[in-house]
This record gives sequence, structure tokens and C-alpha cells, in this order.
Amino acid sequence: MPDGLTDSHAHLSYVSERLGGACMAGLEAAYGAGGALIVDPGVDFDDFLPRRERFGACPFVRLAAGIWPDAESMKDVERRVAVLDTAVSDPSCVAVGECGLDYHWMNGTEVEQAALFGAQVELAVHNRKPLIVHSRLAFAPTLSLVRTAAVKIPVVIHCFGYGEDEARAFLAAGCYLSFAGNITYRKSAGLRAACAIVPDDRLLLETDAPYMNPEPGRGKPSSPLDIGRTYAAVSEIRGSGPGHLAALVTANTRALFG
Ligand SMILES: [Zn+2]
Repeated sequence: MPDGLTDSHAHLSYVSERLGGACMAGLEAAYGAGGALIVDPGVDFDDFLPRRERFGACPFVRLAAGIWPDAESMKDVERRVAVLDTAVSDPSCVAVGECGLDYHWMNGTEVEQAALFGAQVELAVHNRKPLIVHSRLAFAPTLSLVRTAAVKIPVVIHCFGYGEDEARAFLAAGCYLSFAGNITYRKSAGLRAACAIVPDDRLLLETDAPYMNPEPGRGKPSSPLDIGRTYAAVSEIRGSGPGHLAALVTANTRALFG
């Protein structure tokens, strides 16, 4: 697969911290010319402006703003969501996220996580912007919190980590599913089965860089330049040609994030 393939979810500031300036120059070279995009999501209530400063001028980067469910963020939800609201209203913010529920790390209580996530679901609906959702070991509560929103705005389940049944349920609700490098891992048979049933117009691919490096890079920090191995795996799973898949994911990502 060539470099410069659309990546619907990469944390570029973490990528540059982990991999340095050479990697960023590599991204410029790979993405500068073609029409592929990189979507850079937010994780903290006040990280949008520094990322806009840094990446806002890159024609291939799209920025989102959201609050990840860490322990700190559950403490004063109202104030943080108010700050986030200002970021989301910025014309260069294309989506709300990432935000969601994480019952693996389990910061705060389920109720606190739902309050922080629910506030951001509302923010996305109110601003008519797509929602980028993180969901780990929390399938049922995630689905119930996004169900109403998913008929009004695009809802992307990022780094999809469930099986075929959960994929069907999210798809039936109208969600988009984005698959990351863990689809190449040996034990990810359920993920591969899920990926095989996603309709063309609901499929996205991502690195979640600097995490989730596709095999054989598992465990090392990743960048969008590693996404070719995920495209190759998904191309095989879905029986679709690499060129077709690349064009499809770029078209889907552009339709959602401009
Ligand atoms: Zn992420």
C-alpha cells in the first residue's frame, strides 16, 4: 500500500512527541499532494487551541474537540464542557470527540462517565457536528447514549473493539464503524468478522496513533504512516481491491469531516 492513506483518527501531538519532527515531515511529504485526510481528535477540554495553532494550517488535517473520560475530567464537568463548547463552535472544529465510556480504565463511576459523555453527545447534536465515540467494555450503555443522536448526526464508533453482533447493533442505529491496527492482531477474529459485515458507506479506518500499531509493529508507537498495513488487512477481509478501499475510506471521511 502507498503512503498517504486516509486516517480517521490520529493524535498528532502525541505522535510528534513520541516520534519527533522527522515523522511530521514524513506526513507532510506523504499527505501533502493527494486528497487523503488525517482527523486529529481532542482528549482534553482545553487542548483544541494549541492543536489548531499547530496543525490548523495543514490542508490534510481535520480537527475535532472532545473530553476523554479520565479521572480529572469527571471533577467539574460543567465548566469543562462550557470551555469545550467554545472550541466546538470554532469553524475549524469538524466534530465532537473523542469522548465516551471506558469501563476498562474505569475512572469515576458509570454515572459520572455517562454524565460527561452525555453532555458531549448533546453538544454535538446542538452544533450539528459528527460525534467521535470511544467505547471500551461498555457496549450496551454506549449504544443507549448514542441511539437518539445517531439519527440526527453522524456517530463514529472509533477503534471499534467489539464483535459482529455489536457491530450489527451499532449499524442498525445508524453509526459508522472505524477500525484500527488491532484488526491485524492474532486474537482479533471477532473484530475481523465485524469488519466484514460493515456496508461500504459506513466504514472508516484509523491508526489511533501513537497507539495500536498494526502487526508486525505491535507495541511500538505508531503514526499515520503505519496505516497501510491496516488497509492491507481490511482489503483482504472484505475482498475489496486496495485502490477501491482507499478511495472509499477517503470519500467516507470527507463526507463526514469535510
Ligand atoms: Zn484516540
